[in-house]
Amino acid sequence: MELTKKAKALLKLGLCDHCLGRQFAQLGHGLENFERGLIIRTALKGKKKIKEKLFKRENIPNLEVKKNCFLCRDYFEKIEYFAEFISIGLKKYDFETFLIGCKIPLELKRKEEELWETYGFEETEPMKSEINRLIGKKVSTLIKKRVDFKRPHINAVINLEKEHLNLYINSIFIFGKYNKLERGIAQTRTYCPICKGRGCSKCNWEGRLYKESVQELLAKKFLKFTKGTDTKFHGCGREDVDARCFGKRPFVMEILEPEIRKINLKKLQKEINKKNKGRVKIFNLRFSNKNEIRKLKEAKPDKVYRIILKLEKKISRNELKKLDKLVGVIKQRTPIRVEKRRANLIRKRKLKSISWKKLSNNKLRLTLKTEAGFYVKEFITGDEGRTKPNVSEVLNQKVEWENLDVLKVLYP
Ligand SMILES: [Zn+2]
Ligand SMILES: [Zn+2]
Repeated sequence: MELTKKAKALLKLGLCDHCLGRQFAQLGHGLENFERGLIIRTALKGKKKIKEKLFKRENIPNLEVKKNCFLCRDYFEKIEYFAEFISIGLKKYDFETFLIGCKIPLELKRKEEELWETYGFEETEPMKSEINRLIGKKVSTLIKKRVDFKRPHINAVINLEKEHLNLYINSIFIFGKYNKLERGIAQTRTYCPICKGRGCSKCNWEGRLYKESVQELLAKKFLKFTKGTDTKFHGCGREDVDARCFGKRPFVMEILEPEIRKINLKKLQKEINKKNKGRVKIFNLRFSNKNEIRKLKEAKPDKVYRIILKLEKKISRNELKKLDKLVGVIKQRTPIRVEKRRANLIRKRKLKSISWKKLSNNKLRLTLKTEAGFYVKEFITGDEGRTKPNVSEVLNQKVEWENLDVLKVLYP
């Protein structure tokens, strides 16, 4: 629709200056919509035509803004009120960046759409986006924090009608590395598959598959420092529950809904290590981000394992030399113990090096360097022929493993 005709028709409808100007939001730079509205009203009064070049700062008349709007219920008059309301809600949180969202009543949305259908939507901006922007600007000056459209620390969504505020506090991410010095600790909190954490007779009312995990041992202090509500633990691979890990395994701890973001990581690390002495130790804590989680998951670091083997029969040094031939590609069909969780297929994984030391007539210590995803236990026993070649087969006797430790996680 031609601009002057459109402006005249809209003015007749009884729009406030915000809503009138917003229908021309794409015209002119650096103006607020109510300023466009003032320009249009004045121009029409003076019987001027509405043209794009009219929308300039020097044409803004010094007039009072028109209210009593049939479209927006004068919500624009309450921008300051909403901004203060939100600022109070944000008070207890420590953050740098935020983004405002609003819920406008459905009826207003419909009215706006009807308006667009009749008068065109080419030059307009949605009401919602103007309200968000104006509240955002105001909140920003009130609390002296920045608006961030991409990755704000907090999303504040206000329901204009109900005057209800919802805050979405985005997680913080902290990178570190850990050693697990005790067997029997899982990496992450694992809920009982039967009761899903509620507690049942099967899990002894613990709700957990394993009583303790690295995640939970660390989480208490992380939550104490950040006042978050919960954690998610993102590890770079994981060792078995019964294996220790002396290789510093990278992880990212995600803290959900933290009230405090700026924390003293050195102090946190110290407290965690004191509390978990002899069980779990962490290193290199630093602030991280969501992208690093993907990096951790995609990284396929080589590992060095140490494993103690129990032999059935006495064995000569010469026979043990056969182990050296195992270096190369090992084919592993999905182990019986994880069969339920993983697709049944054959994986080819490299054994990069192997060394051994006889501890007694029937005890042997192996050190293996493997590619990521290598099933070490199955490589020892053969897993009923599912892993080939394997240690039992080469030594021509039944071999059992006694304990397993991860010595190194070769993460760059
Ligand atoms: Zn309005
Ligand atoms: Zn249970």
